[in-house]
Amino acid sequence: MSGAANDTIFGKILRNEIPCQKVYEDEDVLAFQDIHPAAEVHFLIIPKKFIPSLAEVGMDDAPLLGKMMALVPQLAKEQGLADGFRVAVNTGRMGRQDVYHLHIHVFGNRPGGAPLSGMAGAH
Ligand code: 5GP
Repeated sequence: MSGAANDTIFGKILRNEIPCQKVYEDEDVLAFQDIHPAAEVHFLIIPKKFIPSLAEVGMDDAPLLGKMMALVPQLAKEQGLADGFRVAVNTGRMGRQDVYHLHIHVFGNRPGGAPLSGMAGAH
């Protein structure tokens, strides 16, 4: 598997060393519920390829990144976010990234719940 040198918690999840609540998986991508949800629904989409952060992404990764982003509306709808959601990619120290395996946060409240406030992120 790509990411063999990946010692992050998400590397462990990819290697089935620790469990996750899976939302979606294919040959390139895994999505799972965030363990500390910032809203009623909060899941993460990660590439199986080990890329530490958005700051390390190159043009070669454009198809993979495009696929991850294109999965967002499908998975958001499946998870109950039929009336909108927020996407965040915390990047680097100044972006308050905690886990250095690229991930897209997708979060929001279900229809009928309160809209998210301001620019609050996934922290
Ligand atoms: P970051 O701050 O790097 O953008 O976000 C990392 C996210 O990973 C946080 O929202 C945190 O709750 C989540 N997280 C950290 N450890 C685990 C874990 O072991 N399992 C799951 N499912 N999520 C985790």
